[in-house]
Amino acid sequence: MAMIPNKNEMPSQSPTERGKNFNEVTYGYTAELALNEAKRCLNCKNRPCVSGCPVNVQIPDFIAMIKENNFEGAYQKIAETSSLPAVCGRVCPQERQCESKCTLGIKFESVAIGRLERFVADYHNTHSTEKHKKAESNGHKVAVVGSGPSGLACASDLAKMGYEVSVFEALHQAGGVLVYGIPEFRLPKDIVKKEVDALSDLGVDIETNVVIGKTLTIDELFDKGYEAVYIATGAGLPNFMGIPGEALKGVYSANEFLTRSNLMAAYKNEPDTPIMKGGKIAVVGGGNVAMDSARTALRLGADEVHIIYRRSMEEIPARMEEVEHAKEEGIEFNLLTNPIEIVGFENPENPRDERNGFVTGVKCVKMQLGEPDDRGRRRPAPIDGSEFVIDADTVIIAIGTSPNPLIKNTTDGLEVNKRGGIVVDENGITSRDGVFAGGDAVTGAATVISAMGAGKLAAHSIDKYLS
Ligand code: FAD
Ligand code: SF4
Repeated sequence: MAMIPNKNEMPSQSPTERGKNFNEVTYGYTAELALNEAKRCLNCKNRPCVSGCPVNVQIPDFIAMIKENNFEGAYQKIAETSSLPAVCGRVCPQERQCESKCTLGIKFESVAIGRLERFVADYHNTHSTEKHKKAESNGHKVAVVGSGPSGLACASDLAKMGYEVSVFEALHQAGGVLVYGIPEFRLPKDIVKKEVDALSDLGVDIETNVVIGKTLTIDELFDKGYEAVYIATGAGLPNFMGIPGEALKGVYSANEFLTRSNLMAAYKNEPDTPIMKGGKIAVVGGGNVAMDSARTALRLGADEVHIIYRRSMEEIPARMEEVEHAKEEGIEFNLLTNPIEIVGFENPENPRDERNGFVTGVKCVKMQLGEPDDRGRRRPAPIDGSEFVIDADTVIIAIGTSPNPLIKNTTDGLEVNKRGGIVVDENGITSRDGVFAGGDAVTGAATVISAMGAGKLAAHSIDKYLS
């Protein structure tokens, strides 16, 4: 039978329809589509796709089970190494990981590994009624700080080994970026809730509204009888550009904008924490966070949404699928464009004019690409005399985040690097005895799967340390 050159398309909402609602954009494969896609896999002996997976999912084995209609078996195979298959199947950058190594990709489109992972995870979630059982306690208590993918993965593995695990989360809801950052139309909150509920079934105690470093310190956790602590506090501190106008009204960090929309119901009429609902929006940045902010703004009722990114489409760091979806939805891309000032309204004759201090636009300069920087990306340089203004009522800054210094400032002997990341060895062990760390808190903003991998590694190291 001739090889089908392209991936089986995943059914999705039409761009005009989905721009008006927060429902998930893609519907996922049907069993028939999954079977057709699985048949494209060559079951390569050398398994190059597995080497592209940060948590070593045995990809050819789970795809072979799909071919045999054994969807639950395929799920169990993935679950041997990944604790969040339904999440990873949706948000992992597969095109840069497993799928980039797929043999089929040399001649054709690679196997749609991510879509198949999502299919079996969704199949399991709708068909399985089995609940995780609490393991017999080994009498050791471990604290996990932060409930993002890294903290969840670590807590889950430790609980399965019999540890008594408490997760401390600063926000009022567990899930980290999976709930406060990534919007519903990409990752439905029900899916994250299932993962968090599964932790509770394992006996993990999740305490929300506890800010470690303020409500309790790491030292106080040890005083309370915890014998080891895993720090998975992410990188939630927004970076700004340091240009004039960033303090104007109507300028948000992407984190604030997305948190207000995702977690604080700002989309409702008369919410406690409102955000814009119309007008012209400018989003600065080219990563997943910028795409999520732009597409959220559109769904909140923006008339026009502009992405401003200083390099070209070739260097854009967001997942290609998200960029394509954003383009289809009508987001305008201003590439090779860099903001130099955020412009605001000022009526010198009437200091009481209520429009004073509100943003009106972003002054930008056109850029050209020069020599590659130390990461191999061509360095953008401004073109003299190319200044122009993009009109905007709201500006969202999505140029990256850093780890929050709160824990470092309240914990003696915890070494951090110059970017604020906690320093760990290859096993997730920090400079402070009994304290482990991983995920974005160590690496700076990265990916769900790498954060999860670090959590699993730390669980293993904590087990070694305590036994
Ligand atoms: P987080 O998910 O940030 O979780 C850290 C948790 O710790 C948070 O809940 C925080 O409230 C809590 N916390 C912080 N300080 C304290 C404290 N002092 N006390 C108690 N709790 C604390 N990655 C992908 O792979 N694919 C994507 O498509 C993708 N899209 C993204 C979109 C957005 C908008 C954002 C922001 C990120 C995206 N990422 C994506 C990156 C990915 O989500 C992160 O790399 C990942 O969530 C990091 O996991 P973590 O567990 O280390 O930290
Ligand atoms: Fe299948 Fe591609 Fe992995 Fe080969 S590399 S086993 S074709 S998924």
